Amino acid sequence: MNYDGDIDLRFFARDFIRTHGGAVEDQGLAMDAVLPEELADELSVSEYLNLQFGTGGEGEGEIHYGSPLLEKMVTVARDRIPVTSCSLRFDYLKTAGFDRLIQERFHFRNGVGKVGKTAPTLSEYILLHCSYLAQSDEQKEGLLTLVYNRDTFVEVSTMADGLAGVEMDFADEATPVGLSEKEIKRIEKLVQNNAKTALAVELKDFEASMNRRYRRDVKNLNEYYTALRQEMEKNLKRSGLSERLISDRKEKIELIPAELAAKTDDLFKKYSIRINLKLGGAMLLKCPVVKIFFKVSVGRKKKTITLQYNPVMKSIEPLQCRQCSNDTFKPFFGENMKILCPQCG
Ligand SMILES: [Zn+2]
Repeated sequence: MNYDGDIDLRFFARDFIRTHGGAVEDQGLAMDAVLPEELADELSVSEYLNLQFGTGGEGEGEIHYGSPLLEKMVTVARDRIPVTSCSLRFDYLKTAGFDRLIQERFHFRNGVGKVGKTAPTLSEYILLHCSYLAQSDEQKEGLLTLVYNRDTFVEVSTMADGLAGVEMDFADEATPVGLSEKEIKRIEKLVQNNAKTALAVELKDFEASMNRRYRRDVKNLNEYYTALRQEMEKNLKRSGLSERLISDRKEKIELIPAELAAKTDDLFKKYSIRINLKLGGAMLLKCPVVKIFFKVSVGRKKKTITLQYNPVMKSIEPLQCRQCSNDTFKPFFGENMKILCPQCG
């Protein structure tokens, strides 16, 4: 998000609070705002704020250039969701051959379909850069890029790979772009799921290495305690030990399994992987696409579904299950021709 003297402070403050999950009631001269706890903590203000603009006062809800609240908001906006907007240009947009592409990509588990009308149009995508830090005995840092269709919310992250070869026009940075609270909530949920899958791939070697070390250390630990136990048992058989010493040593031997279990547990903690994922930036992509009206029939029932050709991916985007909202390329048409993924139907 850009911030300079030309941007209306009111607009910035309102948009900032809304995009960070708060609510704002605009009353002309002042605004009442309710902030989520986390945001209030970050800004060091109360969860309920009466925002005053440009009065030069000292209150905690005072917003003017140089006021502590505004400074903090700008810092949070800068390191959290700087949204830039960008239009993708294509000199040529595919007009035919969609039937073949659809047959290659999709598996219709019941019913058959064929392409009806097609229509070139514009679609919006939300691209998110997330940085992650995986911490275990060692640590690994990296970046993930996730892309979502802004209308359907299907995940199209492979679009990010294709962007290098596409002409991109960046919008004037003075135009702030905000995502709605609803969109942010929806995206947060999707990111959690998709990041887990994407990170599993990214961290495969790291995880394997930590597992290897864990197994190696557990093996060494077991060997150590087995040897220790044998040694102690051998010593017990020596002659001339007092009753007291024998019972002391027996007690120590009995404690070995508990000690081994505690040490193994420590190793498990040492090699567990904790992941911290941070959103590093977002971009709104406007992209020419082709909407494909695809006529599906299951027995006598008919339905026209909309598919979308994405020229960056050079492919068709997935459908979304109407039950669980997961993406699917293997739709089943249930009751009332409702689209279902393999898990739901
Ligand atoms: Zn489903």
